[in-house]
Amino acid sequence: MRTTKITEGKICPKCGNATEQNNFGRNRSGTQRCKCKACGRIYTLEPKRRAYSEEVRELAIKEFYAGISGRGVGKIHGMSGNNVYNWLKKKPKRRG
Ligand SMILES: [Zn+2]
Repeated sequence: MRTTKITEGKICPKCGNATEQNNFGRNRSGTQRCKCKACGRIYTLEPKRRAYSEEVRELAIKEFYAGISGRGVGKIHGMSGNNVYNWLKKKPKRRG
């Protein structure tokens, strides 16, 4: 049975279609491009906005290194502990 493919967040800016929005490579800055099957429009996806500000992120990392568990830090800021761990992973290591 064929199901209609609805990809979340992909809506054609021209015709407003949310179905059959296929990936169409990436542009120079690495943003995902999509092609609308209905009207043939090629458009770039808006980059996802960060859910948390840089300040919250910095604070969360500091709190973690101050001895609070990832879960605890998450509770303080109303986010999941996994989120905190992800930030820690992404943090570049100090050089030298
Ligand atoms: Zn379209």
